[in-house]
Amino acid sequence: MSAQKRRRVIAGNWKMYKNQAETRAFFAAVKPLVAGVTDCDIVVAPPFTNIPAAVEEAKGTNIGISAQDVFWEKEGAFTGQISTGMLVEAGCKYSIIGHSERRQYFGETNETVFKKTRAAIAAGLTPIVCIGEMLADREAGRTEHICESQFVGSVGGLTPEEFSRILIAYEPVWAIGTGRTATPEIAAAVHKYVRQCASARFSASQATALRILYGGSVKPDNIKGLMAQEELDGALVGGASLDPKSFASLVKDWPR
Ligand code: PEP
Repeated sequence: MSAQKRRRVIAGNWKMYKNQAETRAFFAAVKPLVAGVTDCDIVVAPPFTNIPAAVEEAKGTNIGISAQDVFWEKEGAFTGQISTGMLVEAGCKYSIIGHSERRQYFGETNETVFKKTRAAIAAGLTPIVCIGEMLADREAGRTEHICESQFVGSVGGLTPEEFSRILIAYEPVWAIGTGRTATPEIAAAVHKYVRQCASARFSASQATALRILYGGSVKPDNIKGLMAQEELDGALVGGASLDPKSFASLVKDWPR
């Protein structure tokens, strides 16, 4: 499969923003703006409590709804957790897993990311598995080492069939919410490296088919340059996904 054949994905991560009325208002505004888009996958990840409203608003559209996290057990005494089955029942198609904010603030490890990823796949969700280095790692020349160990620890234990169902998001932590985007060339170089890791662990053809999104201060004014890189199969976007016009621009305003 050539890079051009990898279908691109633009995914918005709302983090802990928007109430239900704001969720409905977002969809009312964004739906007509992206209705004609058929050549990329469009994903929105609202907070858990807004998933039912988002699913209802997105019904019959080209927008898929994602969770921002998931737990690996099917049910049980796990206060505060949400299972894959609950997300599927609510209408989710995707789940972000291992976002750097969860790794940094909530004790997420490669091991828990792996368990969550497997459980999500088993339930029929598409996991968006996040990896990426901290600023100190980049400055110490450890970007590849960190990305490789996160790749191996988080998804290296999947079967080839399971691996074919995931999306990876490369999100350098120093670029998230900071306004400091990786240049398209920096992002593409890491994507290429992650693809090499995928080839080593799985196969060349699986590595070529793997879709890798870039995340970190992606905005309407830098999306063109990023998407001009063949290595980038889309974007995982935080801040700029909250506004319908800005999100629609991210979905539409790059060369096809
Ligand atoms: C993110 O939340 O995954 C992200 C990349 O955020 P931002 O676009 O705001 O940097």
